[in-house]
Amino acid sequence: MSRPRVIRCAACAGRIKPQHPHIGVENLETGEEFSYHARPDCQKRCVEETVTRLEAGKVFAAHHYHSSSCPDAAPGFGCSGGCFDTPMAVAN
Ligand SMILES: [Zn+2]
Ligand SMILES: [Zn+2]
Repeated sequence: MSRPRVIRCAACAGRIKPQHPHIGVENLETGEEFSYHARPDCQKRCVEETVTRLEAGKVFAAHHYHSSSCPDAAPGFGCSGGCFDTPMAVAN
C-alpha cells in the first residue's frame, strides 16, 4: 500500500486534489514536476514561472490533468468537463 502523493500548487502552496483538474510542468532533465491549480490566477503564475524557467535554458513539458469526472475520452481545452475554462497561453 503506497500513500497517495500529496500534490501542492507551486503558485499558492495549496493542496491539489488529484481528482481535480490541474497542470503539471515537468522538467524533462530531472523529471521534477511543478503542479498548479487549474484556476486562472494559478495558471497565470504557471505561465510566468514557466517562461522564466525556459529563459534559464531548461526544457519543460506541460501536462494538463483533467478532472477524474471529465466525460471526454481524449480531453483538451474546451472539454465538456470544463476543466480548463481559461486556456493557458502557450509559453513558446
Ligand atoms: Zn494554486
Ligand atoms: Zn476535462
